[in-house]
Amino acid sequence: MARKALSLDEFQKRFPDEAACAAFLVKKRWPDGFVCPACGCLRPAELKSRAYTYECLDCGRQTSITAGTVMHRTKLPLITWFRAAHLLSNHSNGMSALQLKGQLGVTYKTAWLLEQKLRRSMIDPDRTKLSGIVEVDQTEIPFRTKKVFFDDARARKITIIGAVEVIDRDTRMTPKLKRKGAIYHDTMAGRIRLAVIPDNSAAAIKEFVRANVEPGSTLVTDGHRSYLNFDDYRHDPHVVARIPAHIPLPWVHRVFALMKRWGLGTYHGLRRQHIDTYLNEFVFRFNRRYHRKASFETLLGLASNGQPKTYWDITDKENPRKGERPRRIMPRRRKTASGMRQDSSPKRAKGRLTLRIQ
Ligand SMILES: [Zn+2]
Repeated sequence: MARKALSLDEFQKRFPDEAACAAFLVKKRWPDGFVCPACGCLRPAELKSRAYTYECLDCGRQTSITAGTVMHRTKLPLITWFRAAHLLSNHSNGMSALQLKGQLGVTYKTAWLLEQKLRRSMIDPDRTKLSGIVEVDQTEIPFRTKKVFFDDARARKITIIGAVEVIDRDTRMTPKLKRKGAIYHDTMAGRIRLAVIPDNSAAAIKEFVRANVEPGSTLVTDGHRSYLNFDDYRHDPHVVARIPAHIPLPWVHRVFALMKRWGLGTYHGLRRQHIDTYLNEFVFRFNRRYHRKASFETLLGLASNGQPKTYWDITDKENPRKGERPRRIMPRRRKTASGMRQDSSPKRAKGRLTLRIQ
């Protein structure tokens, strides 16, 4: 059941300094001790000259303990990352970069980038499709445009489609199927999915459904969607005349309402450019609302081996130095466990290890 998150006090006791964070990372990534990714040997030396890096004593390969996590190539202390992930995973509504800046004592730009990077981990790579009884509906949300003070009435809108699993409140399982049009009582929302779609067309809706809902599931939609003919799903349009729309589709409407309030409250309006990431964050939080501890680790990129994102990926800007070869006057040399070594020279480390780790 629900795994309790660490309180701030517990968190600070568990991660008092850089060494504690580094030890946690090593333990998470190599539960049975370090294994060289190049040759598979088990003889690492911890380099004193490069932070969080081990060198294999057999093949000379240097491996960073942050490789494959969001913290890779970071210039920030690990503890800043850990604190940010702790704050973001424990605040049920998330935090704006401004709030994070205040909590961490970093600049706004740093807080913003930290948050963007952590938020990009908020997607589960091997998540399974929704199944059983699934409510599907669309809504519109206004988005914020550059330099214009956010004004709900005059803002432009985008269409969001949502799917919500309907589960039994007591058993947390799919309720017994009823005849079409019948209302499912004593239910609650299970997992959800949200996405931006270009328009309300049947093609766009179907594409979303195929990507997110298991074939054979029952799709509960409002009566206006009865023109949708799904061949591999059981379509259950709920046509209710002169009754407010939120009665036949209570859970998807609840999710939309929460999403809109969250967008306005935490971010003071969502920006078009980052909308997919915001939706992912919302879905991630919603689907893990009973599993906060797991989300802390996922945020740091420990659960999935996601590709680290750069500043240029996040801002969608062109890196002016992309593809340029670094100009070097001297060949690059790096410190190794056995002294200086020129890059791409034969790798063979001998003796003189600084520290063996278990
Ligand atoms: Zn090796």
